[in-house]
Amino acid sequence: MTDTAHRLAAIRGDRPARRHNARTIAALTGNPGCTRRAVLDSAGVDKPELAERIGFPTRFGQSRFAITRGNAFEAQVKADGGAELLRLVAERLGVPVPAAASWTDLGADEDRPERSRAALTADGDEAALFDHPLLGLDVAGRRVHLEPDLVAARLGGRFHVVEIKSFPVIDGQADPAKVAAAAIQSAVYVLALRELFTAAGRDPELVSPQVVLVCPRDFTNQPTASLLDVRRQLLVLRRQLDRMARIDDLLAGVPADFTADPEAEPATLRAALSTVPARYAPDCLATCELAYFCRHEARGQTAVLGRPVREALGGIAEVDEVLALAAGDRTPDPEQAEAAALLRAAARLRADALAGHPA
Ligand code: SF4
Repeated sequence: MTDTAHRLAAIRGDRPARRHNARTIAALTGNPGCTRRAVLDSAGVDKPELAERIGFPTRFGQSRFAITRGNAFEAQVKADGGAELLRLVAERLGVPVPAAASWTDLGADEDRPERSRAALTADGDEAALFDHPLLGLDVAGRRVHLEPDLVAARLGGRFHVVEIKSFPVIDGQADPAKVAAAAIQSAVYVLALRELFTAAGRDPELVSPQVVLVCPRDFTNQPTASLLDVRRQLLVLRRQLDRMARIDDLLAGVPADFTADPEAEPATLRAALSTVPARYAPDCLATCELAYFCRHEARGQTAVLGRPVREALGGIAEVDEVLALAAGDRTPDPEQAEAAALLRAAARLRADALAGHPA
């Protein structure tokens, strides 16, 4: 084991590193500037267990009902060797619907990694659909195997990731948060497919950044397809994975005795965590298991209110400072002068409004 590997093992309490999956890799991009998260994820710390231990448990995941409904929709879309899926994907990509396409299920094979590699990177440009391929990515020096339910579609000689999701598209609109989550998760698969192509000596650009998202339409079970361009998500993901690959740089700013061992005393763990810089934002609630701890720690700071509010407040870090500037109880620094004038005007307008409309 290298010194770095020893140190990461010590951080997680000499337990096996927690395995990543596509969801957790996608979540890495949720707050790429947060050192605390990058260190914990690089060390493979069991963050749900850690959050529970320090008294700030959080819950992620779908309900059993949503999982069952999602599985039923996926089976319906993939039925008949993917005939309906092929039509949807081809029409959405604007290419002629092929008369036929091969369907290869790579999920139930003993030699799955090798078979996935051989099937996906073989020469040929006839239409083909590949279900349940086994993909891989390096995360902080460890190989992570991804077992997506997705289909990789080869049409017109290019591969497209096809994600089947059970959230509805109503009047052409889907929940933006769910679409954003699907886009970043699809980007994980695009990146893994591209790395597979590169390793096989093939052009990674054969894997398109245009992902096809298939969802139920309106309040029916009829599938509809839309295109997601995940180029921006690929950049963010690549940057964060590169940052985690340079784990020594991250560890340089972390105290030598830092521990996140869930066996340690909660007070010790809370004190240790507060020595590693975090960048709490409301988005953390959807993407990181430590969100409730970090939100509690950041109370009183404008970051808790979200980046737009913080920016609207002129980047002033503390809520108390904002209130003091608004009330005129504090002399602003020169760089705060503009924000302070706006805050005082807002406070006056609020006072006038309240005076004009007594409760
Ligand atoms: S919840 Fe905390 S550790 Fe996780 S990303 Fe947000 S600030 Fe970082």
